[in-house]
Amino acid sequence: MSGVRPWTCPPRTVVFVTRVRQSFPSAWLVALVALVAWLPAAAAAPGATPVVVVDPGHDLRANLEQEPIGPGSSTLKIKDGGGTRGVVSGLTEAELNLRVGLRLRTLLRRAGVRVVMTRTTTSGTSMGNIARARIANRARAKLFLRIHADGLADRRARGTHTLYPALRRGWTDDVYAPSKRAAGLVQRELVRALGFPDRGLHERSDFTGFNWADVPVILVEMGFMTNPTDDRLLATAVYQRRAALGLCRGTLRFLGRPPALCG
Ligand SMILES: [Zn+2]
Repeated sequence: MSGVRPWTCPPRTVVFVTRVRQSFPSAWLVALVALVAWLPAAAAAPGATPVVVVDPGHDLRANLEQEPIGPGSSTLKIKDGGGTRGVVSGLTEAELNLRVGLRLRTLLRRAGVRVVMTRTTTSGTSMGNIARARIANRARAKLFLRIHADGLADRRARGTHTLYPALRRGWTDDVYAPSKRAAGLVQRELVRALGFPDRGLHERSDFTGFNWADVPVILVEMGFMTNPTDDRLLATAVYQRRAALGLCRGTLRFLGRPPALCG
């Protein structure tokens, strides 16, 4: 609630200043009344409640249909290969992403952020990445936050990294800088919360969901489900909560709000 400041409202500032000079006890009363009168207006002001679109990656079934990787592109990619799976836990990536996403929704809502989910169940065929980006565009999201976990043939690979769109004129030039900033803030908080190795940030030019986004967008890879350590930990409620907390704190930093609101 960075906007809750009586002095941003000129008429009441005049009242406040005048009464301060007259007498202190009544000045405080007037200030209090002015603040209480101002609060509902602040809450209802357009733009007062930021929207974040939370996108838990994948779904129950892969989607092998193809779609262009960017507006007007002739390069096609499949909509969704289906994600990875826990090498020890057996948990699907789609389900892990959703569990963290739902926890994140709760934390962000408590912090005064409006949340739009791209999905709330793991029950269907994945909608593909243009559809996901369009949900974020339509919501005019302040951040389009995509939640994933990684998988590699090399089981030793572990740790957290965050991806953001590479700069390409006509596709991502409008969202490149804020996305990069968001990626840095969220990566730092996510690494702090999970305690996994920090694999840093990576630009991607080949992500359909990035190239179609007209709002700042990042994709977190929380850890590697093909690594026994990362997988075992991410499969627990404790670490899913930690991940959500880190994502919430990074998001609030990006929105210019106190991360302590996440709890
Ligand atoms: Zn994934």
